[in-house]
Amino acid sequence: MHEDRRDLAAVVRQKLAAGTLPLEFPAKMWVGKGNGGRCDVCEEPIAPTEIEYEPDFANPTTRLKFHQACLQLWNQERAQ
Ligand SMILES: [Zn+2]
Repeated sequence: MHEDRRDLAAVVRQKLAAGTLPLEFPAKMWVGKGNGGRCDVCEEPIAPTEIEYEPDFANPTTRLKFHQACLQLWNQERAQ
């Protein structure tokens, strides 16, 4: 990740405000190895050596994936 945590928290807030990241609580959370897809928070690829978190929403068109740290930021900012 290129940005520090404070900047990323601001990015998460912007995405929540814009609706790019949902405020709703996921029905399920899938956890697995990354496959090089981009994280929906920091927009950096999630490498196969990293853990990827994929929330599952009631609306199946919402597909997101996160790094562990980015997931925590999303949870943190969404709770505020
Ligand atoms: Zn990320």
